[in-house]
Amino acid sequence: MMTVIGLTGGIASGKTTVANYLSEHGFAVIDADIAARKAVEKGSNGLQQISEVFPGTLNEDGTLNRKLLGSIIFNDKEKREILNQIVHPIVRNIMDEEKDAALKQGKAVIMDIPLLYENHLEHTVDEIWVVYVPYYIQKSRLMERNNLSESEADARINSQMPMEDKRKKADVVIDNSDDLCALYQQLDSLIKKYTSI
Ligand code: ATP
Repeated sequence: MMTVIGLTGGIASGKTTVANYLSEHGFAVIDADIAARKAVEKGSNGLQQISEVFPGTLNEDGTLNRKLLGSIIFNDKEKREILNQIVHPIVRNIMDEEKDAALKQGKAVIMDIPLLYENHLEHTVDEIWVVYVPYYIQKSRLMERNNLSESEADARINSQMPMEDKRKKADVVIDNSDDLCALYQQLDSLIKKYTSI
């Protein structure tokens, strides 16, 4: 049976860069962020449930008012939990369907799940690859990409599980501290190893 690989890491550690390269090399990449958007798209069952539990969160055009929902759950753990209980199973279903379709086509599967450890999703994959960068590189790439101050970048990074903890838990560590050439070399050898199994 094909192995299902969970790809994770910290914010701006390079997961998308890695996922794009693997996708170009024949892997089916299933993206948790895209699935999360599909779960609450206009007309979806997920959005219907949210609007019933959190009245007023639909825009006039039938889309989700993310700003309002964000402000409702921001400082309210209980409401955040309720939202997660609605959204998480739908996201998991969408990802499972995409995974099954890819496996049927005989494709190797990468599940790109940024918060895999934070959301305790280890059991949903066979193997976990962590894209790792040390804190100072992570911070400088995040500041540059999102145009953030140092303290804003610190706050975003520190809201997640520390990179070092993710690195220790990983089955495979992809070190993205160097340039893209060094990254792609590591990926080439992983692809080679993986496709020769
Ligand atoms: P997020 O968690 O926010 O989704 P991510 O983990 O998917 O981020 P990327 O978007 O792939 O991270 O990379 C973060 C930034 O760092 C991007 O601007 C990307 O172009 C840049 N980057 C990635 N890898 C390298 C590298 N090896 N050298 C230089 N820049 C890089």
